[in-house]
Amino acid sequence: MLVETIRCLEDNFSYILIDQNKNACVIDPSESEPIINFVEKNNIKIKYILNTHHHFDHIGGNKEIKKKYNAKIVAYKNDLHRIPDVDISLKNNQIWTAENFKSKIIHIPGHTNGHICFFFENEKIAFTGDTLFSLGCGRIFEGTYKEMFTSLKKLKELPKETKIYCGHEYTLKNSEFCLKYDKNNKRLQKKINEIKNKVNNNIPTVPSTIDDEIACNIFLRAKTLGEFSKLRDLKDNF
Ligand code: ZN
Ligand code: FE
Repeated sequence: MLVETIRCLEDNFSYILIDQNKNACVIDPSESEPIINFVEKNNIKIKYILNTHHHFDHIGGNKEIKKKYNAKIVAYKNDLHRIPDVDISLKNNQIWTAENFKSKIIHIPGHTNGHICFFFENEKIAFTGDTLFSLGCGRIFEGTYKEMFTSLKKLKELPKETKIYCGHEYTLKNSEFCLKYDKNNKRLQKKINEIKNKVNNNIPTVPSTIDDEIACNIFLRAKTLGEFSKLRDLKDNF
């Protein structure tokens, strides 16, 4: 199983998960064109479109990709009213399987009410959308601080080596915020050097790992809901 990172729009990441038969899932296609370009060039077969949540920068390419490849749209059951043409609806804690793909569905509300994470247990790969970013977390648009705090806690419980593929390239900016409130964190300092190297060489900063995020991401390091909420407010004005 292979993950291809496709940059979309301004700073979005879409991903294509490809198995050994060149069957593939596309995760959060922000727009169709860069996805279609990759698919045509590499001769892969897009079978499924997986959406972490309903925001347009995560589903913008659904329609075109579905039409062109006859792909099935896979999304959370409570978002059927705002993600058009869903073929397969998912429940919390469900294991979704198709072809060689097997993913656990983890409901992680906070950024939106219907946000989910796709956790591919065998490969230890998690697509976290706009809930967990590398060194950050999503803005709380629809949920409560408590929901977001609980959702991040669920993600913290994934195996340490789990690779994190998030929805946006915000890592460098996020790292400045983490450093401001966690100056003496050696692991963070080391990770920032790696991030700067990647950014300077135009390499995506994903994937991160759960282990790295627990060590470096200030939002995962917050011990109480109060501490988390305060950080989230500060970040909104950072
Ligand atoms: Zn979003
Ligand atoms: Fe987004």
